[in-house]
Amino acid sequence: MRVEFAFHQCPCRTVTYHRGVNVGIVGGGIIGCATAWELSRNGVDVTVYDGRPVAGGATHASAGVLAPYLGAHDPGPLQPLIVRSCGLFDAFVRRVRDDAGVAIEYSRCGSIEVALDETEADSLSRFAAMHTAAGARWVDGDALRRLEPAIAGDPHGGVVIDEHGYVAAPELTAALAVAASVRGVSFIGERVASVNCESAQPAIRTVAGQSSRFDRIIIAAGSWSSQLAPGTTVRAVYPVKGQLLRLKWPAPKMERIVWTTRCYIVPRQGGHVLVGATMDDVGFDESVTEAATDQLLSAAHSVLQMPSGAGMVEARVGLRPATLDGLPIVGCSRTSDAVIFATGHFRNGIALAPLTASLVTDLVLGRALDPALDPLSPKRFGL
Ligand SMILES: Cc1cc2nc3c(=O)[nH]c(=O)nc-3n(C[C@H](O)[C@H](O)[C@H](O)COP(=O)(O)OP(=O)(O)OC[C@H]3O[C@@H](n4cnc5c(N)ncnc54)[C@H](O)[C@@H]3O)c2cc1C
Repeated sequence: MRVEFAFHQCPCRTVTYHRGVNVGIVGGGIIGCATAWELSRNGVDVTVYDGRPVAGGATHASAGVLAPYLGAHDPGPLQPLIVRSCGLFDAFVRRVRDDAGVAIEYSRCGSIEVALDETEADSLSRFAAMHTAAGARWVDGDALRRLEPAIAGDPHGGVVIDEHGYVAAPELTAALAVAASVRGVSFIGERVASVNCESAQPAIRTVAGQSSRFDRIIIAAGSWSSQLAPGTTVRAVYPVKGQLLRLKWPAPKMERIVWTTRCYIVPRQGGHVLVGATMDDVGFDESVTEAATDQLLSAAHSVLQMPSGAGMVEARVGLRPATLDGLPIVGCSRTSDAVIFATGHFRNGIALAPLTASLVTDLVLGRALDPALDPLSPKRFGL
């Protein structure tokens, strides 16, 4: 079943909460909604603001791939965070399904990273040998074609990782919003004009001029987060445009995610596949372009044997919230402990949502700080 969630349509049931802390969240993408739900599970009183529908930002365009080791051959500080967050996903999705009472497309279907030439085969086979503990295994070209007959041409082998998977990101986010509203979270369908933390209790002012005070405010506004950072003009978060296609796939469902240096393909239920994604540094432009569509279609044709009747259903665009060091920004603001950033997740916001929601909840509830927060501090950018 496809779930949609609109602001002002909260199917709130009567529930009893200990309402100790009052939190405002700017942004109804995966990060804002996951955090709202996690806080509400812990008895916190939450209000989410967004001028767009739930998941109307980058989350809407996401392929939802949950794969710490795909295309990531240079393990940096991000990889252990993604591994940890993906490890939370089974329980996370189960609880959201239970709370929201809806189905969410989620599968640990595994992935194949395909070597398209000898050079890639060299580096990928070395990568597989170094990551056996993560379940990586090298397969040669023949074995690879047996595993995934839809792969075209003459692949030079690939790395298979069975643990990898995907989630339908807009559906998960809509379900998070339903689950949060069931637990009492309010959703206000208005854009926030400013976050003010000059007095003891910070305030959110909407573009309509309404002001509300909170004990804590969480800035989870994706690529737009820098515009709301109080007391600074630093552009710590900037948009990187990505376009993705949904194709009709009138053939048996592909078994695994297929990842190549040209494009990646994510199998989906209902006779579709997703083909991603472009990367363009063009500011806040969210238009679908023919050039990006052609680029992705041609990449897909070079990697896959297209069944007859395959074709484009839709193109989606999103602005990935990027940061200068490639790490998310999660933690209290330099100017006030009452303002918390949860942003800058770039290409991994879906995979990092469960961990981010849990880290932010710890901060709000004053629990012992998780060492994972150390490299993510907003203060490194003067925020
Ligand atoms: C093509 C593409 C493919 C991707 N594939 C993957 C993938 O496979 N796996 C993965 O983990 N990640 C993927 N990503 C990245 C992932 O989508 C993002 O990291 C994630 O969606 C960021 O979530 P967010 O909630 O921070 O931001 P967003 O989803 O952008 O949400 C931010 C929200 O804040 C709202 N907002 C902004 N300003 C204001 C304001 N002033 N007042 C109120 N609300 C405001 C916006 O309207 C928006 O709804 C992909 C991204 C793209 C574009």
